[in-house]
Amino acid sequence: MLDQDFHLSTLLQWRWLLDIGLVALLIYNLLVLLRGSRSGAMLFAVAGMFGIYYLSQDDLLDLPTVNWVLDRFISSIVILFVILFQEDIRRALTSVVRSPLVFSPKDPASNAVLEEVLRACTVLTQRHLGALIVIEQEASLDRYVEDGVPIGAEVSWQLLLALFIPEHMNATHDGAVIIQKGRIAAAACFLPLAGGPGIPGTLGSRHRAALGLADETDAIVVVVSEESATCSIAYMGQLDLNLQPADLRERFRVVFSDSPDGAAPWRRAWRRRINAHGTPASAPGPRSTALPSHISHTPAPVPASARPPAPAMDLDDEPADESGDGEATP
Ligand code: ATP
Ligand code: MG
Repeated sequence: MLDQDFHLSTLLQWRWLLDIGLVALLIYNLLVLLRGSRSGAMLFAVAGMFGIYYLSQDDLLDLPTVNWVLDRFISSIVILFVILFQEDIRRALTSVVRSPLVFSPKDPASNAVLEEVLRACTVLTQRHLGALIVIEQEASLDRYVEDGVPIGAEVSWQLLLALFIPEHMNATHDGAVIIQKGRIAAAACFLPLAGGPGIPGTLGSRHRAALGLADETDAIVVVVSEESATCSIAYMGQLDLNLQPADLRERFRVVFSDSPDGAAPWRRAWRRRINAHGTPASAPGPRSTALPSHISHTPAPVPASARPPAPAMDLDDEPADESGDGEATP
């Protein structure tokens, strides 16, 4: 009997600990999620309102008018919460969905697709053309695809190049190309823009759009800058600026690889990789010191003359001239 009581009280203690622990974890994660955000300030305002409501009750301060107003207000608080915190709720849900505990990622992009993307980026940078190429992973990008121009074609560097030709009659050059299930699903897609205090003012809208989507989904977003003729990659809320196509290949290897260094602990591997390539902390420079931790700026590469020959890609059939006539070199 005594033994049974002991077991029961131990079990209860464990359940209490679990109960309190889970609530503490929930509150901690909520505060971390809302830290520094507009919603964080709103949450405190709502909490303050609850406090005033509690104090206004007749057995405390007895403020009937305040109590009446807040009573009406609080009854619709659930709807208010969903409206006020829709961005954070979406962010929280997508971060749960992309957690490695919830699922293990599939291989959504074949090597052939990645090669075409890399090749397109090389040509686009050579020609100083801007581009935004999104590779869908687990989170569906249907809602962005629906707003774009449907394409439904195999991925080829020639088509990617054509879609980003900045001709005023080319409706597809403005916006992002989205690759779904190894095919170009749509072009001219509008992506959500990253904003807030963590985004440097120097970041243009193409890069903000890349970061915005990488904040909300697990998509890989490649940016080719028409200004700097460099590439960037946004993934898992991180933006890695100023890359050469060979650096992009390395990033792709980390993200898509099945090796223990790659896809399995994908998020951690990605962060390790980014850190190794020089976050503001590891590679201080005039620009990187001003960047927040989720944006890194790879130092400019050594001039071609001082570099060993790149093993990179076979660009045999890439256009040789820069005149833009689209002729490929055999
Ligand atoms: P770049 O380095 O190429 O100049 P940037 O980051 O400075 O890029 P902008 O110069 O403002 O950005 O680029 C504007 C282009 O970015 C637009 O013409 C459009 O094609 C694309 N773009 C801007 N916002 C979005 C968006 N929300 N979704 C998709 N594409 C966008
Ligand atoms: Mg610009």
